[in-house]
Amino acid sequence: MIAEIICVGTELLMGQVLNTNAQFLSRELAGLGITQRHQQVVGDNAERLEAAYRLALSRADVVITSGGLGPTVDDITKRVAARVAGRELVLRPEAEQMVRERFRQYHREMLPNNMSQAMFTPDSKVLLNPYGTAPGAIVPVGNGQFIVHLPGPPRELQPLFREQVKPWLAERSGRTLVSRYIRIFGLGESDVDNRLRRLEEGGNPTLSPYCSTGEVMLRATASAETEAAAEALLTPLVSEVQAALGDAIYDIRSDDSGSMARAAVEALRAGGLKVCTAESLTGGLIAATMVEVPGASEAVKGGFVTYMTESKTELLGVPAEVIEKYNVVSAEVAAAMAEGARARLGVDIAVSATGLAGPGGGTPERPVGTVFVGICSPLGTRTLPLRLSGDRPRIRELTVKHALNAVRLEALQLKGKQQK
Ligand code: ATP
Repeated sequence: MIAEIICVGTELLMGQVLNTNAQFLSRELAGLGITQRHQQVVGDNAERLEAAYRLALSRADVVITSGGLGPTVDDITKRVAARVAGRELVLRPEAEQMVRERFRQYHREMLPNNMSQAMFTPDSKVLLNPYGTAPGAIVPVGNGQFIVHLPGPPRELQPLFREQVKPWLAERSGRTLVSRYIRIFGLGESDVDNRLRRLEEGGNPTLSPYCSTGEVMLRATASAETEAAAEALLTPLVSEVQAALGDAIYDIRSDDSGSMARAAVEALRAGGLKVCTAESLTGGLIAATMVEVPGASEAVKGGFVTYMTESKTELLGVPAEVIEKYNVVSAEVAAAMAEGARARLGVDIAVSATGLAGPGGGTPERPVGTVFVGICSPLGTRTLPLRLSGDRPRIRELTVKHALNAVRLEALQLKGKQQK
């Protein structure tokens, strides 16, 4: 099955709204194993939208639209699709009831043109929308092809797609898909690619890499008639990836909800361990990133934001002489920050970070991107010297990931010790 996304809205062409719907839908389609070869963005113009539909239908089985379902004259998505299908829009009672109910619920007055939101071609499958006032629809356009309409606001489009369109697509494609999301830290994309090239060539299961800041994620997906058959195809591939990448893999799960913070918090919780932070260039971001994970309250005790040099002495007891002797951006200061934090909060693991995020302040000896992460636990104190590249936000984000990975590894080691 081939799908094509058409996002409708002049605001997208003007750059006023970032096209996150295209990204969301693309990921979902890829997860279903449905091929996409093209995407289109069209302004609110009937003639150009009709041309876009006809082009999409010349090369795809299913066309998915986002936006333009509201009651204003701009909202042309359905009207033009009906013309392409050669049908009239008629009032659909189930849609009318939903629209009336939603207006009552939101205490909004219904205007006559709001009823246009309840009009679809007679053979459309209406997608009742619990999240907003505009229903979506699956519109047959002949020739076994369909146009699927979804509302523009992402908080409506996303659940509507997952709950009503995804099952319909899965059934039509007649296959069950099973995936594993494998997260990797500490290896570059080309390194991962080199080690896995042979495995990436398979047609089913497939193995696709995705890169984000400092990380690579692999999605392994198998497609079969039953879930058990798909699992059986997938298991040997995942084992081969594990053999090729070893410790660089920090998370494997069947959905894409994994993250370094989640892996760190889960490792801490599994060992019944508590952590605290002592942060300079990250200004609290290491703690904040862990606290985003549900259940972090069992593992994250607290932290220190010691941005100016003197606060490292005042709050963490880092001796001024150490700072003077080694520089505030040094392994010695990172170590003393972690030790000071651990002694003050009485936790199992303390993690620290000091460094230069730039853009100014670099020297030949300590260029921008020089960072030291410190970690202190019953296993001792160690430091991680890093040379990071990129702009200020990227250097800070990478520092957070390295710090969280250090926490994760320390927690796993401590847990291993407990078990012996
Ligand atoms: P409504 O019932 O709110 O009018 P609609 O289906 O008519 O919904 P639009 O009017 O096209 O949708 O868009 C509503 C809002 O949804 C836009 O202002 C924008 O904030 C958001 N939106 C629209 N398209 C996209 C997109 N492709 N990606 C992200 N957000 C979008």
